[in-house]
Amino acid sequence: MKVRIIYAKWPKLKYQPEFHLPPHGPVVFASALPDDVEICFTDEHVTDIDFDDDADIIFMSVMLTCQIPRAWEIADEFRKRGKTVIFGGIATQLHADETLQHGDSVFLGEAEGRMEGVLGDFRKGQLKKVYDYHAIFPDINLVKTARRDILDRELYNFRGIQMVDLVHASRGCRFNCFPCCTPYLGGRQFRPRPIDKVLEELESIPNNRIFMVDNSLAQDDQWEKDLFREMAPLKKKWISHPIKDDPEILDLAAKAGAWYVYQAVVDMSDHIRDRIKRYKDHGILVEGTIILGCDKIGKSPAHDEDEIKKLVDFLLEIDLDMAEFTILTPFPGSNIRKQYQSEKRILHNDWSKYTCDKAVFQPHMITPEALEKMYDYAWETFYAESSREMRMAKLFLDVLKKEKKDGTHRRYDTRNKRKWGKRRSAASS
Ligand code: SF4
Repeated sequence: MKVRIIYAKWPKLKYQPEFHLPPHGPVVFASALPDDVEICFTDEHVTDIDFDDDADIIFMSVMLTCQIPRAWEIADEFRKRGKTVIFGGIATQLHADETLQHGDSVFLGEAEGRMEGVLGDFRKGQLKKVYDYHAIFPDINLVKTARRDILDRELYNFRGIQMVDLVHASRGCRFNCFPCCTPYLGGRQFRPRPIDKVLEELESIPNNRIFMVDNSLAQDDQWEKDLFREMAPLKKKWISHPIKDDPEILDLAAKAGAWYVYQAVVDMSDHIRDRIKRYKDHGILVEGTIILGCDKIGKSPAHDEDEIKKLVDFLLEIDLDMAEFTILTPFPGSNIRKQYQSEKRILHNDWSKYTCDKAVFQPHMITPEALEKMYDYAWETFYAESSREMRMAKLFLDVLKKEKKDGTHRRYDTRNKRKWGKRRSAASS
């Protein structure tokens, strides 16, 4: 049996540089398919879709809400040609009812241990319309090393620089932040993968640069310490979401190759200022993630023009290495959506505009139009003196320095190219 996994294109944010990371969801999904299945992959960000494909099944892997309208279009086109289309991925879970109209089947939940059944049903001509495993999580031990061999590596670089490979060491999140759908999708229980399996996966990746895409690494102190201790000998350089603000853990993270973190900046408190400083004191760079348009949070007033201006000044003052601004977006499955729905503050459900750079809700202290203007203001002011490209170049110089110091830069340049070459020739797409 031959299947094709398709990853539909979504609109990039206005201020994001045009580069594409190798996607994670499709390669993790591919690892859950039985060994005898021939897997081909198309990422529409980097390759055109061939609608005359001879695959037996088209799997639409959909991660983002703003990706789903295009995924529906693609699916409709394939189904017109008589192809069987199955939807999966986290955005499919968030938009299951609408997606049912565009697929022969929708798969809701995590795929491990379940695809043999789905493909068996397909072979018997008994594919179900819905496979609902939402919030019924498979044994985390079933998560295998992702099938990165289905990717065409050459397509994922930025001006000749090889980008990071994405890996996850855990699923679920014990936190329950107001704008986030992760608790709904992945559950409130932290589900770490066995560390030896994470290491095995990291070792299988010739690329020295990794993005640990775990929701937050700061979930379980002992696990975090063990993970970093075990990772250190690999000498990978990695990006992640927050690391626990603890001197011992930050020290272990730095020794394990922490390169930079994405850290939410929700207010202008000393707590945030000190948190950023502690990362930097450990040689870990920080990209702030800042959501604009929030209501009052704790002691922080709701965002209006003045508040956003003060916030941008604060970010410059605390010397963030990078900042990523988004407009608060009430995604299905999030707490904030429930609240705004009850307050009748959702302006529309045009999912193609749920891109985090548009105001799709009524903010508390500012008009939607003014909020979009302040979004431009934030990007332009933060990057006025040192452009995003300049700051990205500095991040890469930092990692080069780290790699040269421990001798991994050479390994990255030479041995890896040979390894990937071998894998590519064995790949099935
Ligand atoms: S924002 Fe991050 S830490 Fe908060 S619930 Fe979502 S994944 Fe967890």
